[in-house]
Amino acid sequence: MAYRTVNPYNNEVVKEYPFATEDELQSALATGHDLYETMKKQDISERAKILHNVAAKLREHSDELARACTIDMGKLIGESKGEVELVAIIADWFADHGEDLLKPEKIDTIATGDAEIQHHATGVVMMVEPWNFPYYQIMRVFAPNFMVGNPMILKHAANTPTSAKMFADVVAEAGAPKGSLTNLFLSYDQVTEAIDDPRVQGVALTGSERGGTAVAGAAGKALKKNTMELGGMDPFVVLGDANMDDVNDIAWRARIYNTGQVCTSSKRFIVMDNVYDEFVENLKKKFAGLKPGDPMDPKTTLAPMNTEKSKNKLQKQLDDAIAAGAKVVYGNEPIDLPGQFFMPTILTDIDKDNPAYSEEMFGPIAAVYKVHSEQEAIDLANDNPYGLGGIVFAGDADHGAEVASQIETGMVFVNNFMSTLPELPFGGVKLSGYGREMSHIGQMAFVNEQLIVKTDKPNMGNLAGGLVALDPQE
Ligand code: NAP
Repeated sequence: MAYRTVNPYNNEVVKEYPFATEDELQSALATGHDLYETMKKQDISERAKILHNVAAKLREHSDELARACTIDMGKLIGESKGEVELVAIIADWFADHGEDLLKPEKIDTIATGDAEIQHHATGVVMMVEPWNFPYYQIMRVFAPNFMVGNPMILKHAANTPTSAKMFADVVAEAGAPKGSLTNLFLSYDQVTEAIDDPRVQGVALTGSERGGTAVAGAAGKALKKNTMELGGMDPFVVLGDANMDDVNDIAWRARIYNTGQVCTSSKRFIVMDNVYDEFVENLKKKFAGLKPGDPMDPKTTLAPMNTEKSKNKLQKQLDDAIAAGAKVVYGNEPIDLPGQFFMPTILTDIDKDNPAYSEEMFGPIAAVYKVHSEQEAIDLANDNPYGLGGIVFAGDADHGAEVASQIETGMVFVNNFMSTLPELPFGGVKLSGYGREMSHIGQMAFVNEQLIVKTDKPNMGNLAGGLVALDPQE
């Protein structure tokens, strides 16, 4: 693994970055810890102002940031611009709401005195992030932790170093004190070294099971609190009475957006028998209409995948799925361009013992299943090691929500495209990880929820009784 920007559209090596030195890591830990001590005493409203300024600077530099992202990992330029705006929205939201969310909470208690929970910073957070949304993944951790006063060290993916550096530069330009977000090109061993360091008090990873197992293992060994945002095989359930115009309009986007490299892409389409043929025909048509090309060109609708390695891995998974009996109803042909293009593909007839039944395919491959009852749809949706998100299309939204609540995932959208916004919690269950980012829940990920109980009159009456000091007058 080396940190390099290789443009996946034309395979040009744009820039290489050396690994961080031991001194750089030690200096980031020391600066981060010092800043933690300073921010503890600072008024939170000062950080809110800086975070709003981060949003403003992101918007000011939107074009360069979007270009860097597209060159790093290939996504369509329009999607890169959308990502920069989303990231600015997240910064603004936490700047607007962080102070309120972090206010002390009173507790109604029978203990003597007044009890409240205060929310304090805990120390440096080590974040490890993936390439698929190079800015958004950082901001999901950065915004809430900056508000609470936790400095951060960022280890970004090896193939998006330019985006990582530019994000950190924008944060600095916005006036965030040194150490607020230190981007370091760390080796895996250095990530473990940072996690072991007593100044690091939280670990956040978004990525695969591979990365998650390693980083959560290191965090567990060092007894550091951690959040894991991992992979998914989200179901897209189409009930028999769904509005098929909406389904047909949304299904292909739910799979192809970001070239299918989204944790919450709809990877399994579970379709009721009466609408199955229409669904497959339409998906074929939509996939066939996609236009591969330069992701910088706004007319391109199919971007390359992020690296040659990812493309090869996906092709191997597809070959294995076919060897195990899956049927290709569309796709699986080469695209005659030098970049890392992968033809959108539709697979059916995936049996339970096919690896494609339970392995995440992180690219433009849609697995389609036919079901004969709602219960069969729910059972199939749940017969999966992952539990991240999902979509349900139903004739009636309330009924769709009843089905949604029986699906074992962290997030389900009914009759709509899945979206992410700062006020909505993001995360999953099962192998999709634990903890939530964004929203009021994400705000509390690395907070010391400190209990303070205060009284002017101690209660001596019941101390011998042990832990519960009841008021003897009551
Ligand atoms: P990955 O290999 O796990 O990489 C993610 C990050 O972890 C990268 O920075 C990677 O660094 C680092 N990493 C990997 N192994 C490590 C180790 N042993 N020690 C320290 N750091 C390590 O994930 P990916 O395959 O690139 O990303 C795609 C996956 O992320 C998919 O499974 C997708 O579903 C998931 N994802 C989940 C969410 C969510 O919110 N739940 C969001 C987006 C993506 P290197 O790049 O240097 O290897």
